[in-house]
Amino acid sequence: MLSANYALGSRTLARDLEPEPDLAARSRCVVRHSDFRLNKGKRVKESGSGSEVTRRRFVQRTLTSAAGSYLLLKTSKTAGLVAASAPVSEEPGIPAGSSYDASVPDTLDLAERARLALRCLTGTLDPADRDGVQYEIYFHVTFAANPAWMGHDGTGLPTNNPKFAESMPMMRVMSGSDHNLDVENAMMKSMVRFIQPPGLYYAHHTNLRPWDGTWNPTDVDFANVYGNARMVLAMMAWYQRDRDPAWKKRIDNMVEGLLQVAINRGDYSFFPDDRVGEAFSYPLGGWRSGRESDNLGWTHMYHSGIPRAAASWYLMSGNPKALELGRLITNYMIRPKMWGDIDEPRYIQSADLGHWGGHFHSHVMMLRGVLSYACAVNDGNLKEFARNGYEFSRTYGVPRLGWFPEVTHENNRPCESCCIADMIGLATALSRAGVGDYWDDVDMYVRNQLAEQQVIDADLLQGVSQHSPGIKIDSPRQTSDQVIQRNIGGFVGYGNLTELPKTWIMHCCTGNSTQALYYAWEGITQFQNGAAVVNLLLNRAAPWLDIDSYLPYEGKVVIKNKKAEQVSVRIPAWVNRNALKCRVGDRESPVVFAGNYLLVKGLSARDQVTLTFPVPEETVKFQWYGETYTAQLRGSTVVELSPRRQSADAYQIYLRNGYKANTAPMKNVTRYVTDRLIVPNS
Ligand SMILES: [Zn+2]
Repeated sequence: MLSANYALGSRTLARDLEPEPDLAARSRCVVRHSDFRLNKGKRVKESGSGSEVTRRRFVQRTLTSAAGSYLLLKTSKTAGLVAASAPVSEEPGIPAGSSYDASVPDTLDLAERARLALRCLTGTLDPADRDGVQYEIYFHVTFAANPAWMGHDGTGLPTNNPKFAESMPMMRVMSGSDHNLDVENAMMKSMVRFIQPPGLYYAHHTNLRPWDGTWNPTDVDFANVYGNARMVLAMMAWYQRDRDPAWKKRIDNMVEGLLQVAINRGDYSFFPDDRVGEAFSYPLGGWRSGRESDNLGWTHMYHSGIPRAAASWYLMSGNPKALELGRLITNYMIRPKMWGDIDEPRYIQSADLGHWGGHFHSHVMMLRGVLSYACAVNDGNLKEFARNGYEFSRTYGVPRLGWFPEVTHENNRPCESCCIADMIGLATALSRAGVGDYWDDVDMYVRNQLAEQQVIDADLLQGVSQHSPGIKIDSPRQTSDQVIQRNIGGFVGYGNLTELPKTWIMHCCTGNSTQALYYAWEGITQFQNGAAVVNLLLNRAAPWLDIDSYLPYEGKVVIKNKKAEQVSVRIPAWVNRNALKCRVGDRESPVVFAGNYLLVKGLSARDQVTLTFPVPEETVKFQWYGETYTAQLRGSTVVELSPRRQSADAYQIYLRNGYKANTAPMKNVTRYVTDRLIVPNS
């Protein structure tokens, strides 16, 4: 639903954004976005919603550095606490852009997946107002019950509402969807209301939310330290969307608040786990024990977001306190006792190499944090640590599918969607930073397990529910109100190879996986100074070119140029380069490579570049928990997987017989394009 008085940012955006050239050197790990641009008002109709948005003319300015252009800010010298009741920006929305109709191949379209994700991100929120807390996430969703239901948990509001708040603007940048914008804004208003001294975001304790003691009892509001890092990242996304300086002030305060409550031990700092509310939460008023936790698994999880948020904010703002926070927590987390914990030959230095065992999401999320800090200070050794850790993590599970286990030490553990999301986040970040080229990995993970662990078929979910046991709903903690429709586009908690067992969602997975969709989508193509780069052969519409991908049906990719003078196209490892043909319009173009990239120069606007190549078909056997599986692939896309499990209470995946056709079906779509991108902080 859209508020009747909604209108998109009519403000001039650049008033507090001034170039700070010395920050350019720090930016090498940050992807750069477009230069000065003037967008004219457009009218965009959101299919299915019946609503229409008038986009006013406004000016967008981003800043140009020697290496490219992106958003940089000056460091606040006037930090002060934001009043708890400070309003959020009055007009958040979809970025100004344009839309147009096109006939395109009906193949994997991440923008369409983002449009679906917005249904879940806004649909699974609870509109009830509980002492000022509104639109709290129903954290658990169970489809394998009759009726399907969703319910609250103590981890929803403190750490997962912020993940959703970061994902929502990303999904709108991708899709241009205005679905439930008023819900998104109301949720953020409720969250900002509970920013309290010392500048932290708190889960509000009230008897109306008895589930806030699910993890540990609490009698006060508490600020989860990881949730606050995710809130920093969320506010960075909102700030990039609407450029309201209030976000900058809130972020500076939150970073300084985290620095203030961290327990310092010289060259490192840590956060205690006081067992109040969710793990690693700061009780309003101060720590009670202040002791260091001996639970290393959760220590990883709850510290992991902090270096990433702090380093990303430092790169964007130059705030030295953000860098200091990132340094102190990174120093804590790279100590040898945090790594290793795995049987390897003693001449392999497991801890030095970022090797690990145990909870997948915690460790890979921490590797993402280490890489973020390494990029902020350009530390080669830490970059290597993150790369080694990534390559080691990749050996768990089935990397050609993007299937990674929730826990490494135990048999028959399924894949938590967060694990796929982390691997995409880390692989894209390493590739952007030049610490390796992992675009083939991203392609495999996205086309296969990530795409399959997003639930998009209401009929399949309905079938799962109908074949599952009855349940009595415990209201208001639980609800069965339109649960399937409200969660279409979400990402499940667990996936096996051919089904999603007892199909259910924990919404950490929706928060993190939607961001992975964004990292991949943003990584498809980039543009700078007349030169376009295409890293992934996936569909994408951008201000500088559009990509139509006929994969996996046909070895054909069409690049419709708009403003690039040259384009470099990364050719996947599975393509036979000797059989690759390139045409610009009707004329054959020479095939010239620079590393993994095909170079096409001398382009004019409206030129059409067509790449054709054979798609190899492979049959691959692999072991999965003692069972032999067979996968048929076309290029990087799995088209069949066996043996299949056929549990009645499980959503079936890899139902891909349609992919065996030799001609890609076509469809008519409305493509949306904006240059108001959000810098990936992966
Ligand atoms: Zn998860």
